[in-house]
Amino acid sequence: MFKKILIANRGEIACRVAETARRLGIRTVAVYSDADANAKHVHACDEAVPLGGLAAKDSYLQWQRILEAAQATGAQAVHPGYGFLSENEDFARACAEAGLVFIGPPPEAIAAMGSKSAAKALMEKAGVPLVPGYHGDDNDPNFLAGQAERIGYPVLIKASAGGGGRGMRRVDRAEDFAGALASCQREAQASFGDDHVLVERYVTKPRHIEIQVFGDSQGDCVYLFERDCSVQRRHQKVLEEAPAPGMSEARRAEMGAAAVAAAKAVGYVGAGTVEFIAEEVGDGDLRFFFMEMNTRLQVEHPVTEAITGHDLVEWQLRVAAGQPLPLKQEELKIHGHSIEARICAENPDANFLPATGTLAVLRWPREHVTFRRNADAERFHEPAPVRVDAGVREGDAISPYYDSMIAKLIVWGENRAQALARLDAALRDTHIVGLSTNVAFLRRVVGSQSFATADLDTALIERERAVLFDAPGLPLHVAAAGVVAQAMGAEAALEDADPWSRRDGWRIHGGARRRFDLQQGQVHHVATLERLHDGALRLAMGPDSWPLVARSLGGDRYDVTLGNERHTLAVYLQGERVAVFGAAASLELQEFDPIAHAGEVAGGAGRLTAPMPGKVIAIHVRPGDTVTPGQALAVMEAMKMEHTLSAPRAGTVAEVLYAVGDQVAEGGELLRLSE
Ligand code: ADP
Ligand code: ADP
Ligand code: MG
Repeated sequence: MFKKILIANRGEIACRVAETARRLGIRTVAVYSDADANAKHVHACDEAVPLGGLAAKDSYLQWQRILEAAQATGAQAVHPGYGFLSENEDFARACAEAGLVFIGPPPEAIAAMGSKSAAKALMEKAGVPLVPGYHGDDNDPNFLAGQAERIGYPVLIKASAGGGGRGMRRVDRAEDFAGALASCQREAQASFGDDHVLVERYVTKPRHIEIQVFGDSQGDCVYLFERDCSVQRRHQKVLEEAPAPGMSEARRAEMGAAAVAAAKAVGYVGAGTVEFIAEEVGDGDLRFFFMEMNTRLQVEHPVTEAITGHDLVEWQLRVAAGQPLPLKQEELKIHGHSIEARICAENPDANFLPATGTLAVLRWPREHVTFRRNADAERFHEPAPVRVDAGVREGDAISPYYDSMIAKLIVWGENRAQALARLDAALRDTHIVGLSTNVAFLRRVVGSQSFATADLDTALIERERAVLFDAPGLPLHVAAAGVVAQAMGAEAALEDADPWSRRDGWRIHGGARRRFDLQQGQVHHVATLERLHDGALRLAMGPDSWPLVARSLGGDRYDVTLGNERHTLAVYLQGERVAVFGAAASLELQEFDPIAHAGEVAGGAGRLTAPMPGKVIAIHVRPGDTVTPGQALAVMEAMKMEHTLSAPRAGTVAEVLYAVGDQVAEGGELLRLSE
């Protein structure tokens, strides 16, 4: 086994690899960009080498520097994690030339699966079923439009070199084909440096089911069952689970065999995933087609670890060190059910726009047990009910340079119902303040009728729209009660006195009154707390009022009773901002200073500003153009995705302040409208 390895990645996956290495007594070397000088993964490793740079291309993709770091520190092998260099055959080859073991498949296997088009041609030969489509070399727009006609609409245009759900366009009508193709190729060129595309039938209501495979250098290959990753947004996974609900033993064996055949066709060694798209064909039976093979460890590998009881990173290290696979196919078994939720910095209500900012509060569910597994591979070890794989700590920032995933929450249960209940509770107890996240959205997905009944397909989020988006937050008066409880609790702590019997400046005539000015978005609210002569409290807002009883539960938690409603609230105060989390929802408010805001004028919405830092990739209007509300004005690329910015209102373009190719800071004014 290796004595020291270098981890050529960042975030949760770098921490994850370091944890197994530590358990196995392998020393670890981290690399880091300027943005990550104090990142969690740097501290998770024994040594760390700076790469410089901020953007991935200037840091984690600088493989010359990474190889030098490995050599300088005496590392024997390099673990690429996922993303970055993990599927870069040149890097795998360069490792070998530098005398380092690449912890992944041979470069030839990466190359064979690197292009979705070429992989499909190869799989066709190996007898693995494919989605009907065109995956040849001819990329002439007219020819491809003809192929789309032949396949029949809707079709999907996909970047051959694509990944992470980028470089994909669904096209429903022939007249939209040319525009979608151009946009897809532009994104493909920008993201992957290769604009080659394929066109295939768009399968409506498909399930994404993938098989985990593992090969060793002795030529053995096994499958560690399936994961259902059908719950997606923007073709990216949101929830993943194992096993796939409704999968029959026969279908599982058939898909497993097809995946092993795919891996063997390219001489696969190490961890890999064969992704299939599956379509129901009556009686709940599934027809499946090969989609692509990811020649690396997958983001959602923890659900497979949970149901098999095996540490896949340990398997990767063993196989890379030349050892045989620890188990034979017939020794692998499924235990219980596991679900993973990807917690991302994004705003689901704004079409999942990625967010950046500081994780002012980052609290995980209490049962959090870090990943630990017995080296004894023969027995199944019941996994932790809740596992959190995070690459960040409270106070860290989510920067615009890398992807928007904050952490993964993984639950295990004896069956799906138990796993579901645990995930709901774990999401309820995950409190993040400082930037938008999808935590509340995930909880609504988990609680939706479709997910609860395992009616899974990639259209689930669309189908459940009504209950998933723009959901009501915590009722204002409940949040206000939380603010009041927190304020009084904080004062009590300061003076070390009983919060409910103290005397202070806001006491008048034996009774007492205190005013709280709160702001929710642009709306100003006043809450008044009154102490009656018998010492009881009453909270009033507008025409309503409630008897209030509040008690500190320690930490940031309060037990609050408003009339007949009783709530356990977590309240986090950050400067003027206060975030209140209840059992069903949360609400963020701001303390409002009425004096500071006197005379404020409402700003006209004639400015179009960048919602996040990024690059301008298209501007659709010129000064003098008249625009209608919602009209697309510009396209920005940020966090590896394209975002269309539309007109906030009608008007005439007065000024365009940036040009295509320019980098814009968050809040930067792109253009100005006049009446
Ligand atoms: P996986 O196939 O391992 O489940 P995905 O398909 O979601 O992962 O993503 C594929 C690749 O894209 C991964 O290597 C990952 O690093 C990267 N990726 C994942 N999420 C994002 C994101 N939000 N933005 C950009 N890249 C991402
Ligand atoms: P990536 O490399 O970005 O992961 P994939 O080829 O794996 O690209 O596709 C990502 C997702 O897009 C799939 O999980 C699936 O939801 C959807 N998708 C891919 N191909 C099709 C198709 N032919 N029809 C419908 N949806 C598809
Ligand atoms: Mg994929």
